[in-house]
Amino acid sequence: MPGKIISTCILSVLLCVACRTVPVSQRSQLLLTSEEYENNLGAAAYSEYQKEYKRSTNKTYNEALQRVGTAISRVAGKDNYQWEFIVLESNEANAFCLPGGKVAVYSGIFQFTANEAELATIVSHEIAHALARHGGERMSWSQLQQIGAQGLRSAGAGSAWETLYGVGTQLGVMLPFSRKHEHEADSIGLILMARAGYHPAAAISFWQKFSSGRNPSRIEQWVSTHPGGAERIENLQRLQPQALQEYERCSQKFGLGKVFPAAK
Ligand SMILES: [Zn+2]
Repeated sequence: MPGKIISTCILSVLLCVACRTVPVSQRSQLLLTSEEYENNLGAAAYSEYQKEYKRSTNKTYNEALQRVGTAISRVAGKDNYQWEFIVLESNEANAFCLPGGKVAVYSGIFQFTANEAELATIVSHEIAHALARHGGERMSWSQLQQIGAQGLRSAGAGSAWETLYGVGTQLGVMLPFSRKHEHEADSIGLILMARAGYHPAAAISFWQKFSSGRNPSRIEQWVSTHPGGAERIENLQRLQPQALQEYERCSQKFGLGKVFPAAK
């Protein structure tokens, strides 16, 4: 039993000292990793991606991403980030922002964006994941899960309990957690794009395309980790009045921005 008591104490201490409030959403989150550590991981991953993919030479895509990325990064409030925005040459429809501010958009995603404001929807959503430190939070929960499992072992719990504990934490914590992060990234991203001067209605038009069922699997890679659906659109619609207020306050408005010629 002492093992269980010690691990409970460790957990309580960790939970007390390792909480942080997510910007914009004001949610309290558990973080056992430092921002510096996460940013270093981000930088390492960035150089790996650059080795794996060629940079796109498409002038339209590169210029659009620079405009969108620069506008959003200005309102992101991350002076310690070393922002960079690159288009990777790939048929995959994908995008990411690594901790530390390295943003990549795969050229394949541009066939699904009608204008810059729709591109801003994707970029601001990805930047929101980084600002909210969702990667660090995920790592923290998985560390906690390991500590919990060790506690059970040292307390002499049988393997059946460990299996149950594993299943419980996977389903009870990890699964709804991703949905929570998706919603939070949508909400923060919508506010960011509006503050950056892109009309927030573009977030609805973008997601509606992929929730109607008319484009099954066309944007597979991104949307498989970013499920569409009525719930997502409802959330974005509910936040429109607040986002429009932010948009009205913005001094430099782009509206929907440049329309992409290849848009479908
Ligand atoms: Zn996401």
